[in-house]
Amino acid sequence: MLKFKVAIVGAGPAGYFAAQALQNLANEDRSFAIDMIERLPTPWGLVRSGVAPDHPKIKTVAKVFEKIATNENFRLFANVEIGSDISIAQLQEKYDAVIIATGSSLGKSLGIPGENLRGSLSAAVFVPWYNAHPDFVGVDTPLDADTAVVIGAGNVAMDVARMLALEPSELDPTDTADHAIDAFKNSNIRKVYISARRGPEHAAFTSPELRELPKLEHTNVIMNKGDIEAAIVRAGDEPEKDVKSNLDAMLLIAENLKSEHERTMEFLFQHTPKEILGTDRVEGVVYSTPSGEVTIKCGLVITAIGYQAQGIDGVPYENGKVVNNDGHVKENLYVVGWAKRGPSGVIGTNKSDAAAVMELLVSNLKNPKGAGDVSDLFTHQVVVSQGDWQKINEAEVAAGETKGKPRVKSVEREVLLKQAGL
Ligand code: NAP
Repeated sequence: MLKFKVAIVGAGPAGYFAAQALQNLANEDRSFAIDMIERLPTPWGLVRSGVAPDHPKIKTVAKVFEKIATNENFRLFANVEIGSDISIAQLQEKYDAVIIATGSSLGKSLGIPGENLRGSLSAAVFVPWYNAHPDFVGVDTPLDADTAVVIGAGNVAMDVARMLALEPSELDPTDTADHAIDAFKNSNIRKVYISARRGPEHAAFTSPELRELPKLEHTNVIMNKGDIEAAIVRAGDEPEKDVKSNLDAMLLIAENLKSEHERTMEFLFQHTPKEILGTDRVEGVVYSTPSGEVTIKCGLVITAIGYQAQGIDGVPYENGKVVNNDGHVKENLYVVGWAKRGPSGVIGTNKSDAAAVMELLVSNLKNPKGAGDVSDLFTHQVVVSQGDWQKINEAEVAAGETKGKPRVKSVEREVLLKQAGL
């Protein structure tokens, strides 16, 4: 029996699906001891810090992650940062293979004037803020104006716009950060624009997300019927299935406009942002449109136009991704998930993607190294193990039970470590 040691850096969906694929590739001739290393004191990556809190079903995949973690050959080392605490080169020496699964955490910017004004934020900051990510608790999110603009026509833009346009008490039974629920309850925002630079036929929203909009109980959703009809004509007689499904869902919204609610989410198509106006904070967005320049007055702009991966020393990066060949980076280093292929696809996309990379990795393995244990490297850190994380998890779920929420997330690192008994 050959016993290989594999390190996975990043405890998000791609990391867990890589671990699962390795577990599936174990047989009577080979086994894999998997160590998952995570920067935060908590695992689950985007499932904890990215998925919108009003989408609890998507988060049930965490059960799969926890099942993977119960395997006797799996260890979690959370609260350990690769790059500062330990280098990739050190891991490469200790392990037979190292897998980067660190995702894409940096928001792309528009590169237009005014983007650095107060009140102009990336979704890469706003989303982890409302999801209780410890690094984003103190983010300045001015919600005092009556209008917000979300730039981008993907599902992240849709999540952000929905969070801003919901009646905030709808967030009470969710695991939204307490500080964000308080801020949304005090918010003056009643109108949220979501702007796409191209027409409806090119929007990156997926149709289930569009189809849930008419079900919002306290929010008017506005799309211009003429915009959608023109897009249907442009899309032709045989549009792609996804495009047709999106356009059908959009037409339904455009034909059933509501106006009775205090809160409104309105879609603007063919609006290309040119400038964010303001002197010391955001006052509006200037767009170019087919019928000329248009200015939307607003006090908050959230940019949701995609992500790029953050660099780690010792890992080659290009165009916001780790340079790789079908997931192989160099020597015994591999990459999966958004860090590998860029920020696209839903959580499940990572499953087949990671499985293909793990097949390649296993086919390249020769003889196990057996060069000591990684814990030799953790001399100063407070490391959160799977058992410690389970204590945090149980404490959060218990705190949620009394309030009718799936959990109350702890935000400060110190509190999380205390809950873990560390
Ligand atoms: P995305 O789907 O790639 O959408 C990015 C959007 O930004 C596109 O509409 C793009 O328009 C626009 N954009 C890019 N550069 C721009 C610019 N300079 N000016 C104006 N607009 C610009 O990315 P995402 O929304 O970040 O989502 C990432 C992935 O996560 C997607 O696969 C998404 O489906 C997935 N996700 C899924 C869910 C869910 O299942 N509920 C939730 C969140 C995210 P162009 O097309 O014109 O470039």
